Amino acid sequence: MKNTIIKFAIAAILGLSVIAPIATFATHYTSKQEEVEAKIETKILQSLNADSMYNNIKSLAKTPRVAGTQQEDAAVAFIKKQFDSYGYKAKVQAFTFNDYTAPHTIGLEVERFSVKLDPQALEYSVSGKVTGEVIDAGLGQKKDLEQMDLTGKIALLQRGVISFKEKMLNVAAKGAIGVIFFNNEPGNIMGSLGEPHEGFVPSVLLTQTEGETMISHIKKYPRAVASLKIEGAKSEKNTSHNVIATKKPNVSQKAKETHDIVVISAHHDSVAGAPGANDDASGTAMTLELARVMKAIPTHTEIRFITFGAEELGLLGSTHYVEQLSKGEISRIVANFNLDMVGSKDAGDLILQTVDNKPNLVTELAQEASTDLNGEPTPYNQGENSDHVPFAKAGIPAALFIHNPAEPWYHKPEDSIDKISKEKLQDVSEIVTLAVMNQTRREYYAK
Ligand SMILES: [Zn+2]
Repeated sequence: MKNTIIKFAIAAILGLSVIAPIATFATHYTSKQEEVEAKIETKILQSLNADSMYNNIKSLAKTPRVAGTQQEDAAVAFIKKQFDSYGYKAKVQAFTFNDYTAPHTIGLEVERFSVKLDPQALEYSVSGKVTGEVIDAGLGQKKDLEQMDLTGKIALLQRGVISFKEKMLNVAAKGAIGVIFFNNEPGNIMGSLGEPHEGFVPSVLLTQTEGETMISHIKKYPRAVASLKIEGAKSEKNTSHNVIATKKPNVSQKAKETHDIVVISAHHDSVAGAPGANDDASGTAMTLELARVMKAIPTHTEIRFITFGAEELGLLGSTHYVEQLSKGEISRIVANFNLDMVGSKDAGDLILQTVDNKPNLVTELAQEASTDLNGEPTPYNQGENSDHVPFAKAGIPAALFIHNPAEPWYHKPEDSIDKISKEKLQDVSEIVTLAVMNQTRREYYAK
């Protein structure tokens, strides 16, 4: 991993030009302070323990840790226990989410219709079995339906203009007992009704061709009856958790404290069927290790170490976390270092990703640290597939640390402990630790 940075030279140069002013910070120190600081830095970096990260990954990655399951609960308890053993009083923050089980059976039959159909389920579709006349209800806008009575009927609805959910609720309000949606362009889509709703009736999604053929069919046979069957679909409220360990400023001179907050984060949940050693027990273990080594050292800035739940279901834990922050807290958070997939033997080199593809405080600090440690700045590019996104959207400088390209075991049962590289864990943790120390200690030693 070290010394392997060429690909994103342009971004790196841009980043470098931005970090130049920061890189001169050492000149603000007196030589004595500089010496002390250098010693502390070296000591902290040396105390980072790849074996301890590896062992924590091993403990976490015994099973998949899907959000809202007992396995996630066990991971949350383990993480809290580790934080607390380092001297923190970690908080467990619960949040609810909609857990949807897709149907195991989807059936659609239409009288005298001989074309073979391949109906698809929409996310949040409800189970049920209904039989009724098929009616072409157009786009399902309120104005399309004014003159229609859909009582006991199955509405045939084209995709477009308004959401599937709005269409569904509009026809259900007119008495429809089932819905057949069809695409408005060639190809398949993953349809979603957006969220569970008690006003939903059973529904399926057809392709554009299937839908248009169906329209011709009901023109020919206006009273054609359809049977629609959805079995096994289930929407439930479920609960996932974030784990938060906070290190308050602890410099001896109160006046040196900043009001800033730095957040170091990862996600502890995994996808179903994958033990998620790299995704993201690696980032979780690294967050724990940083919390461990940073505990004793004086910092003038608050540091929050957080592992999020339900990242794999759509960044739910981090979204909840950022949403519940006060405006004041959001303005105090100056950086989010997000660690997701930071230890695979079989992935490429370390890269930073920002939502806007621009440098920010996090990339600058990380490039400064990687230059100090490895002689080259870690490059960055654009990416928005992890928990740094809600922070960035709230205006907080945020970046993802990840190896690129990803390993072939991504989201697979093979994402297990034997694929983890202690060297990569060591390398990334050194870069992040040095970057965080520079941000949370630097002024303390300034004149
Ligand atoms: Zn991940």
